[in-house]
Amino acid sequence: MAQSVAGIYNGPEMAANATSERAGGGAAGGRGVRLMREIRFSIDRDWVRGAHGDSGFEGALPVTNSWGGWPSAVGVAPYLVLRVIVSGTPDPVTGYLVNIQELDNLLRRHAIPEAAQRLSVEGVRLTGERLVAGVYRKIAPLVPPQCRLESLSMWATPYLSYAVRQGDLTMVELTQCFEFSASHRLHVPGLSDEENRRVFGKCNNPNGHGHNYQVEVTVAGPVDARTGSVLPLPAFESLVKREVIDRLDHKHLNSDTEEFARLNPSVENIARVIWEILEPQMSPARLRRVRVWETAKTYAEYTSG
Ligand SMILES: [Zn+2]
Repeated sequence: MAQSVAGIYNGPEMAANATSERAGGGAAGGRGVRLMREIRFSIDRDWVRGAHGDSGFEGALPVTNSWGGWPSAVGVAPYLVLRVIVSGTPDPVTGYLVNIQELDNLLRRHAIPEAAQRLSVEGVRLTGERLVAGVYRKIAPLVPPQCRLESLSMWATPYLSYAVRQGDLTMVELTQCFEFSASHRLHVPGLSDEENRRVFGKCNNPNGHGHNYQVEVTVAGPVDARTGSVLPLPAFESLVKREVIDRLDHKHLNSDTEEFARLNPSVENIARVIWEILEPQMSPARLRRVRVWETAKTYAEYTSG
């Protein structure tokens, strides 16, 4: 059963420092805290050729405080973002669930060399799914005992990410971003013109107005042993383009699309329509989430649970 939730932006570039949020059931026994920590790094020629020493780590020290991440790329190199979320009960004296330096150390000492080793062996054949799953398996036994590892996410680009969640380690999530531009008018025929103006304000303008919509589509599935992917990315992107983007892009949603001929094209309804279009077509993966950004301050999403 899908459900919609509106919230605030929580993309990778907004989360340079540790943040915490209340969690409904992350910790044993119910209430608890979730803590997120992110690292950013490049795997460059020095890692691949072993210039940082046998450990692949000590020779790259000291860790610098570069906003763009550590190590920085020497030359042109893959730039990756890892985000780990842990949960538990904070220490009553320190207020810490875990010192974030411990999470940094965990990720840097184990995730970066793991990524470097895999990239040096597999090169461009390495898939995001295999890398994030491999890093998850590497760090999971090493998470400080007071924490529960909830998830590990990795951004291969600012818009393409992979995630593994505690509970079903056979599944990897893949999220890709798309865009379309469209105009719409928020208007309900069953309401009077005055009520429509009161409820929808400027959005009730008779000739409509436009948005540049961004759509994040998340699918989840087992990693195919042959391809190393949840879905072949080009096929996945082509399907979303054909079924969603081509249908909505540069259209007046109310008058140019069947979907919104009798359905108010609110961002909530746009998210639901996209969910309903894509949900039956994602086999062998499953649709996990559709998030539609209407503005930089507003999104609506449908999720699988
Ligand atoms: Zn609008």
